[in-house]
Amino acid sequence: MIVGSQKPLEEIVASISTYRQVLVLGCGTCVSVCLTGGERQARALADSLIHANRNETCPPVFNVNTIERQCERDWITNFLEVPDHTEAILSLACGAGVQTLADVFQELPVIPALNTTFLGALDEPGVWNEKCRGCGDCILSSTGGICPVARCAKKLFNGPCGGSVRGRCEISTVIGRDVDCVWQLIIERLVKLDKMDDYHKIRSPKDWSCEIATGPRRLVHSST
Ligand code: SF4
Ligand code: SF4
Repeated sequence: MIVGSQKPLEEIVASISTYRQVLVLGCGTCVSVCLTGGERQARALADSLIHANRNETCPPVFNVNTIERQCERDWITNFLEVPDHTEAILSLACGAGVQTLADVFQELPVIPALNTTFLGALDEPGVWNEKCRGCGDCILSSTGGICPVARCAKKLFNGPCGGSVRGRCEISTVIGRDVDCVWQLIIERLVKLDKMDDYHKIRSPKDWSCEIATGPRRLVHSST
């Protein structure tokens, strides 16, 4: 799922300061699950914005709504009613949702309230870890189902590097939190799978053209 984190309130306040009526719009899918952009967070953000503007003589109006998915035009066009006199939409969706909204509402500014951060997995209650970078050429079949693109600080395809110490990545000391060396995890998993042959194969340099070199990527489903 896509994980995002809310921008600092001061930044949000500044980004909407010129608008007198703002629709605070939550998104009911990924960012709702990761507790940053769903219905509850949209209401809480609107409350914080009302509080932040409490000393204004004529404070802005904040309407609140949430739709299931801001990244789908159909959800927006079929289920979102923008109140009259709305001057801007403050979106709590990921960057794809913000841009889809902006595409639908050409005349309205759409402001992001979140920083879209990564594709992650919920590994324990309240903890999401980055697991995929959407590289477009998945190699998990040869790495024990563990991704070195997203989880190795150096994106090594033949690891570990010399910075792997007792199963920890050297990045741990830089960011001040223990991070597993993903190549240690890959080796341990390949041993369990009895597939260490996969480890000993030298992987060729990756074809990064599947990731960003070809410009914005697109999926077209043949049945639609
Ligand atoms: S190899 Fe690429 S597609 Fe597969 S999990 Fe890693 S980043 Fe995602
Ligand atoms: S210690 Fe492991 S995870 Fe960290 S950069 Fe080296 S190989 Fe990658």
